[in-house]
Amino acid sequence: MSDAIARGMPRLPILMYHNIARAPRDLRVYRSLFVSPAAFARQMWLLRRLGYRGLSMSAAMPYLRGERRGRVVVITLDDGYVDNLDAALPVLQHHGFSATCYVVSGSIGRYNQWDAERLGVRKPLMSAEQLRDWQRGGMEVGAHSRSHPRLTQCSDAQLHDEIHGSKATLEDRLGTAVTQFCYPYGDADDRVAAVVRAAGFAAATTTRRGRASAGMDLWQLPRVQVARHHLLPQFALRVLSRYEDRRA
Ligand SMILES: [Zn+2]
Repeated sequence: MSDAIARGMPRLPILMYHNIARAPRDLRVYRSLFVSPAAFARQMWLLRRLGYRGLSMSAAMPYLRGERRGRVVVITLDDGYVDNLDAALPVLQHHGFSATCYVVSGSIGRYNQWDAERLGVRKPLMSAEQLRDWQRGGMEVGAHSRSHPRLTQCSDAQLHDEIHGSKATLEDRLGTAVTQFCYPYGDADDRVAAVVRAAGFAAATTTRRGRASAGMDLWQLPRVQVARHHLLPQFALRVLSRYEDRRA
């Protein structure tokens, strides 16, 4: 029997990032969503140093399905900010990692219309051309709905439009299959997850805390948030130990 089996089901952390940039000075709320390029680089360096491989959601599917085992961490970035392309892509490539960026299909090339007012900052989102650059760099584009609503509050018709619609738009604009989904605000229930599954998505992520493991519901996967204030030891604790699992 292998060590991994003896130790029980291996845990698979799915990291959740938003902006890879320094937090704007005038931003008063949600500063935690900004991880600086230097901190991101240190985190990726540490993972590689410890023998982990950073993978996109699609590349990690065999691990999430329990078909394969290994030292793997999934890297996801929500919303599709331009800073992901500028600051995260070179670091990911440097380490030979891949990652999934979840894009709001109705805001391609625009800004964070859903929370710009609350934050007091407009954060630029990747254009279709920039998303193709992200893909050409070896990275994945997943869907994050059409308009970033709270999906549990949507009617069935709206749900269909937000979920099927975002997949269709992204596939049309990018010319590639889009098979990964992420719930805006992590807002999901069984009804919403069933629509995501029926739309043909292979998996979907929430903001529920904890590390994933094979056998979990692939359409309601937990994640490990990496925030601005996490120093390297805290990052390691959250990603590599049971710290987050106990909080799920
Ligand atoms: Zn989002």
